[in-house]
Amino acid sequence: MTDCLFCKIAAGEIPSDIVFRSDDLVAFRDINPAAPTHILVIPVRHVTSAAELAASDGPLLAEIFGTLTSLAEDENLDGGWRVVTNVGSDAGQSVHHLHFHLIGGRAMSWPPG
Ligand code: AMP
Repeated sequence: MTDCLFCKIAAGEIPSDIVFRSDDLVAFRDINPAAPTHILVIPVRHVTSAAELAASDGPLLAEIFGTLTSLAEDENLDGGWRVVTNVGSDAGQSVHHLHFHLIGGRAMSWPPG
């Protein structure tokens, strides 16, 4: 998609602090971190949100969650970590390209705001 911030990051057209890349996904540090570790994992393919995922995306989701676990290990998040994906305006989705927030490195409260 031509006018999508995260498509441009995945294509390398906008600089970002990339920590992992494969053919199908990119992981990069959030520009406005909410915790000591705050990494976004996105599919290279443009998907608007989790609401657009289909059963055929099972392998992609398995790779995304495997990557989240590997990144949490790399970041030494031994005390725990959180994965968040926001869908739509009520949830606060501000970038309309599917992304999973990996957040950790501090204690967190629940429920979120
Ligand atoms: P959400 O509100 O769930 O759509 O999350 C979007 C996230 O993208 C926010 O946490 C932003 O801080 C982050 N973000 C926006 N622009 C950039 C960028 N250029 N590089 C890295 N993270 C970004």
